[in-house]
Amino acid sequence: MRLSVIGGGQLARMMALSGIPMGLKFSFLLKDEESDRCIKGLGDAVRFDPNDDAETIYQKLGCPDVVTIESENVDVELLQNLSELVPVRPDAPIVHLLKNRIHEKELLRKVGIDTSRFFSCQNYADIVRSAREMTFPFVIKSATGGYDGKNQWLIREESDLDDIGIQKLEGGCIVEEFVEFHRELSFIAVRSVDGDMKYYSPAENVHQKSILLSSVAPAREVDNMLIDIAHSWLAQLMHGLNYVGVLAMECFHTTRDGMDALLVNELAPRVHNSGHWTQAGCHTNQFENHLRAILGLSIGSTDETGFTGMLNVLGKEVTDLSWLTEHTSVHTYNKELRENRKMGHININSQDYEQLLVEMTKVSDQLNQQTDRFEQGQQR
Ligand code: AMP
Repeated sequence: MRLSVIGGGQLARMMALSGIPMGLKFSFLLKDEESDRCIKGLGDAVRFDPNDDAETIYQKLGCPDVVTIESENVDVELLQNLSELVPVRPDAPIVHLLKNRIHEKELLRKVGIDTSRFFSCQNYADIVRSAREMTFPFVIKSATGGYDGKNQWLIREESDLDDIGIQKLEGGCIVEEFVEFHRELSFIAVRSVDGDMKYYSPAENVHQKSILLSSVAPAREVDNMLIDIAHSWLAQLMHGLNYVGVLAMECFHTTRDGMDALLVNELAPRVHNSGHWTQAGCHTNQFENHLRAILGLSIGSTDETGFTGMLNVLGKEVTDLSWLTEHTSVHTYNKELRENRKMGHININSQDYEQLLVEMTKVSDQLNQQTDRFEQGQQR
């Protein structure tokens, strides 16, 4: 069977690395300027040519059995046109819906899923009106093109509004309350073509400057009632949309009216960074399960084997593996080094939660030390 991924970044890479042992063949559709480094050697890289119609692209991709995405920031019209020739999963209308924060948040509100308080804005007048309804600080997020904290602004006082630049908000935005959360939790589920669903245990995520730094799963002390609520939301969304594949739901764990509560921050219609721990911690990782789902196969067990921590390697290269321990595994993405760029990640297992945290600190220190050596090397 042959799969095509729109995009050739680390998520495409890890899908291929999970699928190749299953005998699957891959091709990747790359944008003009997109590097092929992450997916080099893993399948055919096809460069997008705006003169090509969907049929030509489909042929160039080697007539795949299914097409999927690694980012919601894709050309939905192309997905729609490809879907006349080959199943696209998740499908084009779902990607269209979830690539836009306004559509996404409005959907959540419509179906009764809890989110932070927000206003949808189409123009500057809407923003000013919404801002009057908010207390400082609050957050503005552009409707499209936002990831890893890009295109979002913390507004601490009125004058901050002037600094954003109205042109950046063309296409609309969300004005959203700033949530005082206890922690961030993500819930990842997978749904097959037959409608069978499985859930991974929630991961507790730590962000630095809005970029994911680490995840630990299963997150500790999450009340079963909250887990049931999160699962019911995922089921409602995925069955309601006839969603096929992996869906990630990022939540704030907070208090509302004196009660423990979850608020959905964002949905990602794809495999997700906060699910990388499943590579070391689960019988079937998120990448394999996404592939199994979109190919119409049965989905594998999402049960975990203990506690797993994931550390993102940001803006650093792993140049030395001599520190690897029994329960540590390294994944690198073969990217060109750039500041704060996701260059790889490290998974660490333990049967004991406290021990895992100790191991994660050790690995993090190791990583920082060897980065220092790397940086010294670069300077020489
Ligand atoms: P996002 O791009 O929406 O995933 O946001 C990236 C990160 O910024 C989140 O994981 C949070 O750490 C933080 N963040 C986003 N929105 C809010 C909010 N309304 N209140 C507090 N923190 C936020």
